Amino acid sequence: MNVPLRRIVIAGGGSAGWMAAAALSQALAGTGIAITLVESEAIGTVGVGEATIPPIHGFNQMIGVDEAAFVKATGGTFKLGIEFVDWWRRGEGYFHPFGRYGDDFGMVPFHQHWLAARAEGDTTPLGAYSLSTLAAMNGRFGLPQGDARSVFATYGYAYHFDAGRYAAFLRQLSESRGVVRHEGRIGDVEQDPETGFVRTLTLEDGRTISGDLFLDCTGFRALLIGDALSVPYQDWSHWLPCDRAIAVPTAAVAPPTPFTRATARGAGWQWRIPLQHRTGNGHVFCSSFCSEAEAEALLLANLDAPTVGELRHLRFTTGRRTTPWAANVVAIGLASGFLEPLESTSLHLIQSAITALLSWFPDQQFDPVVRAEYNRRVTREWDAIRDFLILHYTATERDDTSFWRHCRAITVPETLIEKVALFARTGRLLGREGDLFMDASWLAVLLGQGVIPRGHDSLANSMTPELRSKILAAMRKTIAGAAAALPPHASTIAQYLHAC
Ligand SMILES: Cc1cc2nc3c(=O)[nH]c(=O)nc-3n(C[C@H](O)[C@H](O)[C@H](O)COP(=O)(O)OP(=O)(O)OC[C@H]3O[C@@H](n4cnc5c(N)ncnc54)[C@H](O)[C@@H]3O)c2cc1C
Repeated sequence: MNVPLRRIVIAGGGSAGWMAAAALSQALAGTGIAITLVESEAIGTVGVGEATIPPIHGFNQMIGVDEAAFVKATGGTFKLGIEFVDWWRRGEGYFHPFGRYGDDFGMVPFHQHWLAARAEGDTTPLGAYSLSTLAAMNGRFGLPQGDARSVFATYGYAYHFDAGRYAAFLRQLSESRGVVRHEGRIGDVEQDPETGFVRTLTLEDGRTISGDLFLDCTGFRALLIGDALSVPYQDWSHWLPCDRAIAVPTAAVAPPTPFTRATARGAGWQWRIPLQHRTGNGHVFCSSFCSEAEAEALLLANLDAPTVGELRHLRFTTGRRTTPWAANVVAIGLASGFLEPLESTSLHLIQSAITALLSWFPDQQFDPVVRAEYNRRVTREWDAIRDFLILHYTATERDDTSFWRHCRAITVPETLIEKVALFARTGRLLGREGDLFMDASWLAVLLGQGVIPRGHDSLANSMTPELRSKILAAMRKTIAGAAAALPPHASTIAQYLHAC
């Protein structure tokens, strides 16, 4: 007989812990399952993680968050994509937009017509067909609207927000739904000697917290999945060599841009994330090619406003746990692995793990088949994102520093080789199960990093160049008109603040 769970214990109260608490308290309301969270203020949280991607809407909806209240509470701004500067070559940039390019017509995807037009001598950049790109570059943002045929429904959006305020916001929500929080440092993890299942956490002051299911949200410490269960960590540094970051906030001196900026540097890259009340900045770099002092100096020399807080130094090893769910422990957040924030995917991976856990929710038996399926799905998504990130570093013409020469020589995973080779030959995009990033994202980054297809789908040639050119011109006009009609980003934020 299936015996349902009675007690879930969440170890850790960073973004991962509180996102899990908020989602589980909503999804499991009425089941009688008690949810407890333990965190240590003395240890604190990683305190970064401020740029997101569009699926965050689904998460906020699932946990019952009002968008205006969320934007107000977290100092949030809207995000239409990421501007990449100096990645392919110094002095060159591109935009990875949330949303699609143009509209499919004829027998082939839109971008095949763009490639055909290019072969016919048209030099219009792909971004001219992306409402999100044009709006972002002009500092405009309004909510997508209309039915799927409307040009105003061709883009998506996400948020930038203050990580500390987000955790506090979710804590309030979770506690109002009955989640019980314990303040204290976990000193000991007691396991069943036969099964290895975790039974009890003992805090340093002697209090004990027992449970049936444990979520390890203890960040890089990975107290349960790593220290207690010894689940191996797959190190991906040979593909993604950056291993350090320095973060610092600066004053908000101009209206916030509706996009994140990622600027390539000599041994890594720098982020710029505009919030309402400040701007988040950070330098991600590889310690084999750049010292902490050099990295810090480079970051401070490349800020566009005075600093308003301390520098934070962070260390990480890119990779993931081989099995994020082992025994009765599910690792979520940094405890499960780390992918650098180049495409703002970590908070998404937390949300995705929570959703997968709810789809494969265990009972007291902890059926290994359920666990295996969870692990298969979750790790597949990690691997697909990993490939996407590697592309940014390896498809580059930069050879001006030893770091970039090192990146160019990296042997990339087979899965990425196939994808890039097919695109380079035919302009076709190969989708796979578990992909988070869809065709438009790959297209933006492949082209932006200088992977220009040698050919295109011959079915695009079933249309005359004149007719294609007419259709493309009409599309550009509609998209440019729509972008110009959107309100300034700052006034949309003001409207939200007013609505609360
Ligand atoms: C440089 C950098 C930039 C990033 N940028 C982004 C971004 O732009 N977008 C994005 O989506 N993600 C980003 N991330 C990732 C993001 O910050 C994390 O995924 C997210 O904050 C989740 O962290 P966490 O909750 O897993 O860990 P943490 O925030 O470290 O929380 C760990 C929790 O465990 C508790 N804990 C640990 N040990 C104990 C113990 N012994 N007893 C009791 N409690 C304990 C701590 O007190 C804390 O509450 C970034 C990460 C880094 C390193």
